[in-house]
Amino acid sequence: MIERLKELRGEAVAAFDGAASPQELEEARVRYLGRKSELNQASRGLKDLPEDERRAVGRAVNEIKNELAAHLTAATDRLEAAAGGAASSVDLTLPGRRPWVGGKHPITRTLERLESIFAGLGFEVATGPHIEDDFHNFEALNIPPDHPARDMHDTFYIDGDRLLRTHTSPVQIRTMKSRKPPVRIIAPGRVYRNETPDASHGSEFYQLEGLYVDRGVRFGELMGVLTKFLGELYGEAIAVRFRPGFFPFTEPSTEVDIECRICHGRGCPVCKNTGWVELLGAGMVDPRVFEAVGYDPDVYTGYAFGLGVDRIHMMMCGVNDIRLYHENDLRFLRQV
Ligand SMILES: [Zn+2]
Repeated sequence: MIERLKELRGEAVAAFDGAASPQELEEARVRYLGRKSELNQASRGLKDLPEDERRAVGRAVNEIKNELAAHLTAATDRLEAAAGGAASSVDLTLPGRRPWVGGKHPITRTLERLESIFAGLGFEVATGPHIEDDFHNFEALNIPPDHPARDMHDTFYIDGDRLLRTHTSPVQIRTMKSRKPPVRIIAPGRVYRNETPDASHGSEFYQLEGLYVDRGVRFGELMGVLTKFLGELYGEAIAVRFRPGFFPFTEPSTEVDIECRICHGRGCPVCKNTGWVELLGAGMVDPRVFEAVGYDPDVYTGYAFGLGVDRIHMMMCGVNDIRLYHENDLRFLRQV
């Protein structure tokens, strides 16, 4: 009797441990632990055994029942983990969690947009050094040492003659010195000013300047190109205003405003309550600049313009503080 019980125990353990599905396990449970199982029958037949045998068989039956119950529980857990584990790691009812990927800085995107528009208008991109000398940043642009314009262009000096460029105009000088007209370039890049930062001024910002020099270039072409450019950028309906201005390196000069896109003309801190925002400075290249780079001012004329890239993006997205672009706060950068 004891021998048969040990045999049963071996079979049952193998069946429980080897069960590959809940159905198989349930069949094994019924066969070895069910009401009609051999083990249960042995349990019920105990009372018919002689007393000494009854004690030994009863103990064996109980031990085997306990052992098989443990194997059954383990097998049940194993099968549930196999089936349920896969299901619980993918809950199809949850909203998706998109992995966060980096993106381009809004200034970079704006530069690319501007470059693309001007490429369509026939301009090529030119670049130059950020550390400039006095000649390229000031003198060649008709800003001698005692010129009042130097007050507006205070910058950071490396040593007596070298400084961080205050505009990208030196790139125009370098380009004109290195080739003959026609020249049709844009010069985008970072520039520096020794300014006290406020909502519309930073000590670092981005500029994009343009230059077109050839025979017979006229002021009307400048107005046409800039109006076309602003229409591409902000939509054809944008209000554009040209008003007289002064720059040392252009004559005549104009400032180009667009309607303030933050307050739509009602007045706000960004537009200083005028309803207009100055976006560009422009004009016909001063003959003295041509002389400085070796072009004959009696043969060639040209126009130049410059704009602040940060400000362009501010007006596109309604951002009211230029300092946000350089603080690198992702809560801001992810929005714009
Ligand atoms: Zn405004």
